[in-house]
Amino acid sequence: MPGFEFFGDEERKEVNDVLETGILMRYGFDGARKGIWKAKEMEQAVCSTFDCKHAQLVSSGTAALTAALTALGVGYGDEVIIPSFTFVASFEAVLSVGAIPVLVDVDDTLTLSPLAVKNALTPQTKCIMPVHMCGSMADMDELMAICKANNLVLLEDACQSIGATYKGKKLGTIGDAGTFSFDFVKTITCAEGGVVMTNREDVYLACDGFSDHGHDHKGVDRGADLHPFIGYNSRISELHAAVGLAQIKKLPQFLSTQRANNKALRAILSTIPEISFRRVPDEAGDSCTFLSWFLPSAEITKAVVTEMRSQGIMGGHFYWFDNNWHYISKWEHLKKSITLNKLHPELKAAVIHHANKDFSASDAVMSRCVSTLISLLWTPEQIQEKGRLMTTVIKKVLNDHAVTY
Ligand SMILES: *Cc1c(COP(=O)(O)O)cnc(C)c1O
Repeated sequence: MPGFEFFGDEERKEVNDVLETGILMRYGFDGARKGIWKAKEMEQAVCSTFDCKHAQLVSSGTAALTAALTALGVGYGDEVIIPSFTFVASFEAVLSVGAIPVLVDVDDTLTLSPLAVKNALTPQTKCIMPVHMCGSMADMDELMAICKANNLVLLEDACQSIGATYKGKKLGTIGDAGTFSFDFVKTITCAEGGVVMTNREDVYLACDGFSDHGHDHKGVDRGADLHPFIGYNSRISELHAAVGLAQIKKLPQFLSTQRANNKALRAILSTIPEISFRRVPDEAGDSCTFLSWFLPSAEITKAVVTEMRSQGIMGGHFYWFDNNWHYISKWEHLKKSITLNKLHPELKAAVIHHANKDFSASDAVMSRCVSTLISLLWTPEQIQEKGRLMTTVIKKVLNDHAVTY
């Protein structure tokens, strides 16, 4: 998954272009910048690479979600349906706009269960926010149908699935808006950065203004801009955009390497009949940043993870079920709604209510799942060796548990 594995001369060249002029800001200074507009250039590259009409770069993936939610009019009293398996940024962004994060179960796609979404709908539901976790996708046809039938907005968090597609369309460009993160561990990186993609001009213009203190960007200079609404600041710098511009050009290479490495490792794990794989609604569209696999029971999975940890080979493998940052089971701060400042009491009560529901359906999936991060740097020999170490542990544990399952 990580683009940082291929940081090189291309990134240095783009950054140097900016350092030559010394104009590190993306707006203004038209003369002094000598035609260097890295953020604008990267936005155009995002539009052409991912086939969307508009792109607004911002300072992080979390800022992109916040800008998109704001632009979509999500705010006080609104409920936003998000999955129980995601990065904490999902509920952080929902809370940042004053809306209620309604967590619901995931299924064996590791993304929103359409059935769980249907069961969570209320008159307050405003937005469905699928999170395309670990390189692959949610069941978009089902989710789009629910949105259409209930007049809801669809915001795709595609932060982990840059370059993946669903029925030929790029993830992040299917809903009303979609986001990528370009933080340091994502498929392409800016060091820190994010983008909102949309085909709706109103949403784009709102994100453009919101991420820069409400500037309408129509003045002859920044001082002459008007502020039609109250904004915020989540601008990206030219230095960050420059890194991203070099990275986005490498995406085809990243994707083909990921897909080849993923396939090779999968072939090795497939030799064990007890292993199954994550369900991918459109197999052809998987960006293959991770290989996510299941074992028959939670007990066996925990034993495999324990054994891999004790052998020191768990690096690059993620057992999300007991991970602090990606699954509801460890989000005590959310379950207790621990914030540094006061929340509105109604919002606080709603947060606590939704975070403490029954997530046994998610547990049944996540407790059996391990995701293996696919490196861009693996040699064929390293993949074979990795596969050998993994299958040896798995076979041993399956053998030990042969009577118990
Ligand atoms: C990384 C990530 C984000 C947040 O991105 P940042 O750029 O780190 O703020 C949001 N959602 C998901 C699913 C992510 O993986």
